[in-house]
Amino acid sequence: MSEEITVSNNIILQANAFICFAQVAESIATTSKRTEKAALLGDYFTKLSDNKLVLAARYFSGYIFPLRDQRTINIGGAALLTAMTNVSGAEKSEIQEKIVKKGDPGDVAFEIFNKNFQVEQHQPTLTLFELSEKLEELATAKGTKRKISLVTDLLKLATPLEAKYIVKLLAGDLRIGLKEGAVEDGIARLFKIPVAKVQWVNMLTGDIGETAILARNKQLDTAQMRLFHPIKFMLASPVTDLTEVAKQMPSGFAVEDKYDGIRAQVHIARASEDQEILHGTVCHNRRVAIFSRTLDEITLSFPDLTSPLADLISLESDVGEAHGLILDGEIVPIRGKEILPFQELQKRLGRKKVSQELLNDVPVAFIAYDVLYAQGRVLINEPFQTRRTILESLHLNSERVRSGIHKRFADISSLDEEFAAARGRGNEGLMVKDLNSTYKPGRRGRDWLKVKRAIATLDVVVTAAEVGTGKRSRFLSDYTFAVRKSETDPTLLNVGKAYSGLTDAEVTELSHWFRAHTLQELEHGRVCVVEPKMVLEVTFDRVQPSERHNSGYALRFPRILRVRNDKPAEEIDTLETVRRLAEVVPDSPTAKPHLEDEESFTKERSPRDINTTPTLEAARDAFKAFVERIKAQQRLVILHDSDADGVTAGVVLQLALSRAGFGNVTRVIPDRERNAWTPANRKQVQAAAPDYLFVLDLGSQSEPVIPGIPTCFIDHHRPEGVPPGDTLISAYTWNPVPNTSLIVWELSKVIAEVSDLDWIAAIGTISDLGEKAPFEMLGVAKTQYTAKYLKEATTLINAARRASYYDPEVAAKVLLTHTSPRDIVNSNAAEVEQLRSARAEVKAAMDEARKAAPVFAGNVALVQINSPCQIHPLIAQSWRTRLPKYIVIVANSGYIPGRVNFSVRTNSGINVLDFLGNIGLSEGEGNYGHGHDFASGGSLPVERWQELLVKLRFEQLTLKTS
Ligand code: AMP
Repeated sequence: MSEEITVSNNIILQANAFICFAQVAESIATTSKRTEKAALLGDYFTKLSDNKLVLAARYFSGYIFPLRDQRTINIGGAALLTAMTNVSGAEKSEIQEKIVKKGDPGDVAFEIFNKNFQVEQHQPTLTLFELSEKLEELATAKGTKRKISLVTDLLKLATPLEAKYIVKLLAGDLRIGLKEGAVEDGIARLFKIPVAKVQWVNMLTGDIGETAILARNKQLDTAQMRLFHPIKFMLASPVTDLTEVAKQMPSGFAVEDKYDGIRAQVHIARASEDQEILHGTVCHNRRVAIFSRTLDEITLSFPDLTSPLADLISLESDVGEAHGLILDGEIVPIRGKEILPFQELQKRLGRKKVSQELLNDVPVAFIAYDVLYAQGRVLINEPFQTRRTILESLHLNSERVRSGIHKRFADISSLDEEFAAARGRGNEGLMVKDLNSTYKPGRRGRDWLKVKRAIATLDVVVTAAEVGTGKRSRFLSDYTFAVRKSETDPTLLNVGKAYSGLTDAEVTELSHWFRAHTLQELEHGRVCVVEPKMVLEVTFDRVQPSERHNSGYALRFPRILRVRNDKPAEEIDTLETVRRLAEVVPDSPTAKPHLEDEESFTKERSPRDINTTPTLEAARDAFKAFVERIKAQQRLVILHDSDADGVTAGVVLQLALSRAGFGNVTRVIPDRERNAWTPANRKQVQAAAPDYLFVLDLGSQSEPVIPGIPTCFIDHHRPEGVPPGDTLISAYTWNPVPNTSLIVWELSKVIAEVSDLDWIAAIGTISDLGEKAPFEMLGVAKTQYTAKYLKEATTLINAARRASYYDPEVAAKVLLTHTSPRDIVNSNAAEVEQLRSARAEVKAAMDEARKAAPVFAGNVALVQINSPCQIHPLIAQSWRTRLPKYIVIVANSGYIPGRVNFSVRTNSGINVLDFLGNIGLSEGEGNYGHGHDFASGGSLPVERWQELLVKLRFEQLTLKTS
């Protein structure tokens, strides 16, 4: 074997010199053809002896150690930057700036080291072997300071070109268009072996270096499966429409719950002594390792799973699973049998050490849904149904280790039901799997389809972090984030900026992380351009074209759903997805407008300027502080909306305050205008002479309802302000956004025992968010009282404000004098009779109004009705789905004499607030254009309504009046 290699410009280098590796890498970077890359690699590999080939194959794959090795270098961008500054003598800020511009610290190292490079002092001397020794030392070194000093020493030995590749290796990516797959390809071509075989052996051994040697020595067939190195995870493709499932898997499929936790791969085997550098920990003489989706070891974060997992394999026998197991599944937070929401688990993530207290507070379980190795066999090439049978034979049914729900279906007819049931169990949705499919590591194919929640979300990566305002002014709490240009082009394009949705603890943790991973500080450290590694899942009201970001799109009102520590930046969403989302209108529990009320008092204004309560805990504190100011004999007035959510909220709060010992509590319901700030409604409140005022479900503004009266607003609409000194409890930024009665019920627990009032709150929830709203309380209430009675009671309660006589107080009275929804539905009480006839009236009015046909002008569809009942929102809703391309306006000239009340809804994606705002109606009486992006409305005197019609080009119409 010749030890020399000729690289470009006919330079002859010793093959084992690191400079030779760097030169080959340079040549590979300049060609885009895979075959040429493989040929260059092959040439180089032939010149290396076995122990050098091991290193070169690993380094070209971007690994420093084999995958199964526990050691990591663990050096952050900031530490690397300091080392580069130490050696080059350049200004840190200058280097930072260049990294931001070039995007690759290795390229920057080359440039700055070249500047002050003195040839005579820096002959290339490093060998591959020496470098490997230094890297091993670096892996075992403790503390950032020590690591920086070792990297500094190493870089001092290097020429600029060597430094370039050392820095690239330390940063974890060579960026020469070569990944592990291409190295496998190179090995296959060089030794004339099918690439699939090389891939297989690489998967078995978990070391591309060892694979290369086995290939060279024609020993691939002798390779044995080695546990304790992660196998890449098989991924799923999203579908939004179940018919896609039918198309993809016409002859049947398996359906599983999509658990909302973190993906984990578990390796378990008997422990033996020669395994000390392997991943995992030893427990009961077994070794257990858990890997995350990013292939990082996370065993230490879940010490409570080690023992139950270890116990899965037997120590005595030598059959079956005694050989070891690899399971694929999800770690989820639990309470006994029940699986809790992901938010619970978040408390346990990102910690180096988990305290006993936290282990007690947030227990977790591992839910296995696949098995990759068992009975001494690698199973990934077995069909899914075989793997599932093997998984079931393991009988995983303890509290901490379970196998996931799995059913088989021949067609999609019952999938809707399954989806609802999975959501009911608190899971994200469904996974649909092809029964005959093999397990394809690292591939996102169509063998696994994910049917997620309807809510649109994007996985994005943070590119810049900015200090926040108020109590977050000490933290980097506002994040600009980006998507990838495409699956193949990793260029990042910004799409938005978000600051809400995370807890204070999460923000604190992220802030530290961003400081440690800052590439460039701007505005004196207020804005930091950061390493694009932190993945967030965000939701939003909608996606719209925008000049503000370089993607050409912006997310409106983005909210962070969660930090995706488990997702690598390579897997974030692409511009294509953003483009698709820009074309559709979101229709989801959180993004969906408040359907029942078209006149809620929200405007285009960022809630950021207003001090909202970011969590239920914060809300409870604020509520408690407000109530503690009140003396038992003082007069309390609750002003609440007239729909079922408002009335139930009012009744729950009234009962809770009475139970807490306040003897003087009154409720007030606004008139048909449903606006707390109109003179008539203010007058009503004033007449009740409050010492303290609660305003529920009616929005919030910076103007007081009654000046001088301390007020507590409890609400879930977008807040517009809060009067100075008053309290605003807003759930607008929570995820999912609860309705007002639910918030009130939760808050009431602070002052009284209210568990028996759950059904009242549940009626409000069903009215606003539907019976499938994702709240635990609703699930419990449905079990206890049944969905049937709850829904029927909801319709009755709502009838009171829809009927022509508009008397929501009847509904309140019914709630106060009955003990359950069933009690209401079966009641003979006069008030319930009144609600029944109200419902009959509303139904008849709806039947009549449904006959009205729309007329069209441009993109507006106008339906005119004339009804004394408040049914225009319902009619607008039904036309909205039938006319998805139009802005639907349903105008009711019979609701308030002399006025036209109208509801505006659309599925077209056009923002109706902007649309109404741009009509340019002259100033005058009435109001319109509040509410939500896709649901608004108004109440105008007849003349102004007619002016509006003209503006909308409906000149020919004459107004229908009663
Ligand atoms: P996503 O994270 O949205 O790309 O969805 C894919 C993820 O769903 C996987 O990586 C798993 O973490 C998770 N998942 C939950 N339940 C299952 C299941 N039954 N089968 C496969 N993956 C699941």
